[in-house]
Amino acid sequence: MRGAGQIVLASGNPGKLTELADLLSPLGWHVRAQGAFHLAEADEPHPTFIENALAKARHACFHTGLPALADDSGLCVDALGGLPGVRSARFAPLNDVSRAQQDAANNSLLLQQLSDASGRAARFVCVIVALRHAADPEPLIAQGELNGQIGEVALGQGGFGYDPLFVLPDGRTLAQCDAQEKNRISHRGLAMRALLPLLQSAWGRDVSA
Ligand code: IMP
Repeated sequence: MRGAGQIVLASGNPGKLTELADLLSPLGWHVRAQGAFHLAEADEPHPTFIENALAKARHACFHTGLPALADDSGLCVDALGGLPGVRSARFAPLNDVSRAQQDAANNSLLLQQLSDASGRAARFVCVIVALRHAADPEPLIAQGELNGQIGEVALGQGGFGYDPLFVLPDGRTLAQCDAQEKNRISHRGLAMRALLPLLQSAWGRDVSA
């Protein structure tokens, strides 16, 4: 792919960074995590995924001077009116805990809130935004979704976040898929693959190493 160069991934979530780098690196992009620039994570105050993804990408561009790619993603559960949605990362209100502890608390709270629900349909949603610079008026935007059900118990060791509770149509949880399979079917993989041709056609000519 022509146009490969440096790109900052505006996330501090190691699970997401690995998934995004696995998709971009084979195409020649030199992927750099924003942590390498000692950049704190941007605030995510907005009510929609797209607004938060834009805010994160803009923040990374502004502080690094490089093109940046940000995703905002989350789990939307029909019986909870779309929650935890943009609040997925910190659904359970905790302070100063590890990512693993936060994930475990989020999963427990989700099970608790669904204990009396009549349906357990849910979807993971991911919006990815790419900006050439902080004032870029032409963001590239792609969205992916993965439909499933929230299980009764956590199963599987792979992935991160709500993966052990997210049951696919074949009965396995997302945490029971290996990384390659998850990238093939996931909301993030789908959004990334929708973004790649946009990157190629819109940026191929003017973003170089
Ligand atoms: P973000 O960093 O604001 O996009 O937070 C996304 C949150 O949504 C994560 O911290 C997880 O709780 C959840 N999430 C997003 N994508 C996934 C996924 O692929 N598997 C499991 N949980 C996810």
